[in-house]
Amino acid sequence: MLKKFIGMIRPGTKSSKRFSLSIIPREQHSVSRKQISPNALKVLYRLNSAGYEAFLVGGGVRDLLLGEHPKDFDIATNATPEQVRAQFNNCRLIGKRFRLAHVRFGREIIEVATFRASHQKAEDDTHRAATSDSGQILRDNVYGNQEEDALRRDFTVNALYYGVKDFGIYDYANGMEDLRNRLLRLIGDPATRYREDPVRMLRAARFAAKLDFTIEEKTAAPISELGPLLLNIPSARLFEEVLKLFLSGKAEATFNILRELNLFKFLFPSTDQLINDGHPHAQKLVEQALINTDKRVNADKPVTPAFLYAALLWPATQLEFQRCLDDGIPPIPAMHKASQKVIDAQVKHTALPKRFSQPMKEIWELQLRLPRRRGKSAQAIVEHPRFRASYDFVLLREASGEDLQGLGKWWTDFQEGDANTRQKLQQGQGQGEGKRRPRRRRRHHNKPS
Ligand code: ATP
Ligand code: MG
Repeated sequence: MLKKFIGMIRPGTKSSKRFSLSIIPREQHSVSRKQISPNALKVLYRLNSAGYEAFLVGGGVRDLLLGEHPKDFDIATNATPEQVRAQFNNCRLIGKRFRLAHVRFGREIIEVATFRASHQKAEDDTHRAATSDSGQILRDNVYGNQEEDALRRDFTVNALYYGVKDFGIYDYANGMEDLRNRLLRLIGDPATRYREDPVRMLRAARFAAKLDFTIEEKTAAPISELGPLLLNIPSARLFEEVLKLFLSGKAEATFNILRELNLFKFLFPSTDQLINDGHPHAQKLVEQALINTDKRVNADKPVTPAFLYAALLWPATQLEFQRCLDDGIPPIPAMHKASQKVIDAQVKHTALPKRFSQPMKEIWELQLRLPRRRGKSAQAIVEHPRFRASYDFVLLREASGEDLQGLGKWWTDFQEGDANTRQKLQQGQGQGEGKRRPRRRRRHHNKPS
């Protein structure tokens, strides 16, 4: 491999490892312009012709090298956000913690970030003030050069740059070697890097699952101790991260890694606790929900955070629901009370915008209504906007081992049947699930009705 050394760089961390730049020429790597979004190429060429450096970086380069389709293309440049904006009329600047430019082409947005430097390099107070007492970076707007930009990125395989001046891959952190060995390695001292941004721990789990990479030993080691730092992260950011973790087609694998790393409990503490307590069905329900989600994502079918959260929080809601019933509250108000209690506790960890919590509550409430199928109610339930999700939820509960006495099959037959079949099904509904069963006294009971 042709190596061009442009001096040794020491990252601004405790690591004693020295890095050097390798440039892998076009004929020695597999990234070709044909695989890159034409809009991303436009941005690269425009910035270059205006005299700026500009490179594709991050997931775009990494995934192309792995033979995968990147989900988006990010660009890094030495132009400031304002200078980028001046080059494009379809551009707007966003973000406070991390200011960057969005260049819009129809539905595609190309994200253009200015090279950042490590915070240890920041001399003046303005920059120092951007770090909290625990070492967390609150704002990351200290600009730098490409080398500095590479070394403040998270994983070595995320710090590979591809330029359209020479079509080479610029590797400052031995990313190519880690890519070949399928290793996820943080750049610099792992504990320091996690303290700067605890979300990197979640990103380690996400990429390990997505790429099927091993988390390198030193990168994995501090996670067990530093996990609690995730409690300092705003719940809105964690919500965004949860969506990336569980709606990207590798949710089941991600969940297993998060559990192994003991990080799941900082996202969904009540669910984690119930799984650890061996609550019947909790683990199976969550796993099955994630398997189903992966199948839908990979088949390009729509998925909604409402359904995902409905499943992830169902075990806790069931438990609360039963407590309310035991206190003598009737089923529907009991479900409302239980839902609200679980949501209130959850949003302290990961936010859940109303547009998702509302349909989630409806899915849960319909779990009480679906067993009541006599008279005209079945037809009315089918027309409910949340029926489909609620029916899927019944199937999910059954798949996780709950005995709902044939409820899923009844609704499958009802939907598939003609008028005659439907009538018969409803007539057969004189006893059993349609009737309210006597309230049970036992606590920790799993069925809501
Ligand atoms: P994907 O888009 O497939 O999820 P990605 O690697 O492109 O993966 P992004 O979240 O899009 O991930 O971030 C783009 C790049 O920005 C990363 O590859 C990494 O270099 C850098 N980056 C993102 N988040 C962080 C972070 N918290 N700390 C350090 N670098 C980061
Ligand atoms: Mg990306």
